[in-house]
Amino acid sequence: MRHDRATEETRETAALYALGALSQHEARAFEIHLAEGCDVCAAERRRFSRATAILGLAFEEHPCPDYLRDILLERIGRETQVPADEGSEPTVDPAPPAAGRRGFARVLPWLCTAVGAALALGWIFTWTSARTEAGRLRAELSEARAVNAKTRDELGALASRSTQLDRILEMAGRQGLQSARLVGQPATPTNSGMILWDADRRQCLVIASLLPAPPGGVYQLWFSSPGTRVPVGVLEADAHGRVHAQLPTPAGLERVLAAIVTLEPAPGSAAPQGPFCATGQFH
Ligand SMILES: [Zn+2]
Repeated sequence: MRHDRATEETRETAALYALGALSQHEARAFEIHLAEGCDVCAAERRRFSRATAILGLAFEEHPCPDYLRDILLERIGRETQVPADEGSEPTVDPAPPAAGRRGFARVLPWLCTAVGAALALGWIFTWTSARTEAGRLRAELSEARAVNAKTRDELGALASRSTQLDRILEMAGRQGLQSARLVGQPATPTNSGMILWDADRRQCLVIASLLPAPPGGVYQLWFSSPGTRVPVGVLEADAHGRVHAQLPTPAGLERVLAAIVTLEPAPGSAAPQGPFCATGQFH
């Protein structure tokens, strides 16, 4: 099926493909779709490929030299105290992420239908079996409203993600912009993403696909300089592990070499407590 116009979904798929944030399966499906001759998606892909090339995020064009990788590994290894039971040393692997996860946009229409059906069923049940329980009805109503509000929030989040993809294109042209490709660790190889950092404006943009955090765990972003780790902020992932975050960065950062995502037991850690989940080297 070819598209006759760009939609939120086609744009997001093409952007995530160009950014290397689709799973292998999704990426293959998208390539097949392109091979079938969808000009709309081909144009979207070209748009974002240009941006990733400018940013130096295209794997083929900027493979990470081995010596840089070794230096970084050594530095990170020296600076990190990963608990022994967490096993592996953090690595920065220049290979493309093996997989990502997405599908929120695809699932959304279905989700809305399902929520609608669930609400309808809920109401039928309520009206037939609990007609006299006014209090309970009110509770059901407030719950239904909460679900509706959540669906609206999710729709809003989808629209704001699309806006952030536009921000990538806009930021790509800025002088002095630094970028890093986030790559998963041996224990979390499917984590992937990218980060853009505008040091002058003190803001960074993170787009990533992370395994859903276990209950109670939060993902936190750090900037790593020799001898220090600076907390940047918490990365909120949606139910599918998709992260689209724009965070202010602390003042006075110097010689930031890498971005690190850790899984913390609580938000607001002053130093990394949990395992590394993804790392990326700035250039
Ligand atoms: Zn298409």
